[in-house]
Amino acid sequence: MRTHYCGALGDAHIDETVTLYGWVHRRRDHGGVIFIDLRDREGIVQVVFDPDTEESFALADRVRSEYVLKVTGRVRARGEGTVNPKMKTGTIEVLGKELEILNAAATPPFPLDEYVEVGEDVRLRYRYMDLRRPEMQERLIFRAKATSYIRNFLDQNGFLDLETPILTRATPEGARDYLVPSRTHEGRFFALPQSPQLFKQLLMVSGFDRYYQIAKCFRDEDLRADRQPEFTQVDIETTFMSEEEIMGIAEGMIRNLFRDLLQVELPEFPRMTWHEAMRRYGSDKPDLRIPLELTDVADLLKDVEFKVFSGPANDAKSRVVALRVPQGSQLSRKQIDDYTKFVGIYGAKGLAYIKVNDRAQGIDGLQSPIIKFLPEDAVLAILERVGAETGDVVFFGADKRNVVNEAMGALRVKIGHDLSLMEKDWAPLWVVDFPMFEEDGEGGLTSLHHPFTLPACTPEELAADPAHALSRAYDMVLNGTELGGGSLRIYDPAMQQAVFEVLGIGEEEAREKFGFLLDALKYGAPPHGGLAFGLDRLIMLMTGASSIRDVIAFPKTQSAMCLLTQAPGEVDPRQLRELHIRVRKPAAESTE
Ligand code: ASP
Repeated sequence: MRTHYCGALGDAHIDETVTLYGWVHRRRDHGGVIFIDLRDREGIVQVVFDPDTEESFALADRVRSEYVLKVTGRVRARGEGTVNPKMKTGTIEVLGKELEILNAAATPPFPLDEYVEVGEDVRLRYRYMDLRRPEMQERLIFRAKATSYIRNFLDQNGFLDLETPILTRATPEGARDYLVPSRTHEGRFFALPQSPQLFKQLLMVSGFDRYYQIAKCFRDEDLRADRQPEFTQVDIETTFMSEEEIMGIAEGMIRNLFRDLLQVELPEFPRMTWHEAMRRYGSDKPDLRIPLELTDVADLLKDVEFKVFSGPANDAKSRVVALRVPQGSQLSRKQIDDYTKFVGIYGAKGLAYIKVNDRAQGIDGLQSPIIKFLPEDAVLAILERVGAETGDVVFFGADKRNVVNEAMGALRVKIGHDLSLMEKDWAPLWVVDFPMFEEDGEGGLTSLHHPFTLPACTPEELAADPAHALSRAYDMVLNGTELGGGSLRIYDPAMQQAVFEVLGIGEEEAREKFGFLLDALKYGAPPHGGLAFGLDRLIMLMTGASSIRDVIAFPKTQSAMCLLTQAPGEVDPRQLRELHIRVRKPAAESTE
């Protein structure tokens, strides 16, 4: 039996005989003495074999990286000058007496005992090796601790951990569904849940009052950097609470988690309306660590001849903003060109700017490719409005509203990082008063959250002006990342029907897809609401990992593949037949 973990040994164990199990992190032969760094999940300890223990010494001579060993030996203090302050166990070592090689290992696909740049494809293909690396072990161990902490918090607050089905019907959260064909019902499909949304609402109808689940969710989206097709939510729902009360519990949970696991005291969570966030930061998840803001200047540019500005300035669906960067005039031509390319990713056609070389000299103190197209009073009024000072640069965004918001919002964050403008480590907030709907790009409206979110108006008001209706939804944002979000829910069938109608879901379709929900709302559904946190993202932020994949044991690639198992894979024709499925040949081979 193991007596200790390698990484848990220290001065307190000096003179004890210990039995350790672990992997050979590194082996060094120092002229007659063999050093083995033995590693387990808690860390690494140095084991020394000298020729006095003949048999073990001979074995130690044979071991290679990643061999699996059992070692028994005595803990002793390291000699003067050999203490390693960089190692957690660096004040001691184990004098090896008995050694057993439990298993050999082929040469690892990449070294684990030194830092080398390894392509992520290789790491994911040999994930079980990658996960042996101390930093990966630390992140996943932290994840386990955080999950357990969250469970405890919710248990103690009376929330019940209830499971909901994985094989189910589509729950719309705005992504495509993963479908599972039914063998027993020909031509029919289950959908994997995009979230447990409808089931948790039904649990509220059943009277469970407080529910939570650490739930897997599945969304077939075109993957962006921080998305995974399957991910984990801390999913929460309650009855008879206001949004303030729900936000209070959620905030308490996150605050305690940071305090107890990271020793970080999060500051106040200010509340900001969605409209204010979009106006000032061009984003519904603003990074408030960065002290830069967008300023609307369309009213000053309506009459100028420069069409790049006056066009959007006179268009209700467009926006013209200025972004002042204090001391930004030191940015080089090349840097500004790079920022121009950067905003191009978001559809911006260019990036106009004015450098303020000397504010006291008025128009003569400015340097800019565009001022010759603009009247002096408009330029000076803009500088006045953004509070420009000598040494600043002012960038401009003028385009359709969403292009400006996305491009200038992202530029704001990028400049904040590039120029190290961050004023604090942690900047949380709640974003509230979201619109119910957004345009779907095809002349219709789609839910900003999901169709079960309670509007902040009556069904009649909603029907009369859906585009301006607000919802009782709230998102928790930390450092520019949406940690979680939720809402009060519709509990009145007439309101649910009104929302479906705005979304173009007719009565028949609503019955077909959500009949069970509409029925449930008829039988005494209590007012209820909740929210869900993205666990992966939360852990990513807490561990400082740069990718969501680094906090998931077995993640998928950005093209939604598992490189370890090569999933998704082909299946046997017989299996397909049983599922009543015929695969269409890829377009090129198809005869159709
Ligand atoms: N189901 C929502 C989501 O996945 C969260 C919620 O409204 O509770 O985003």
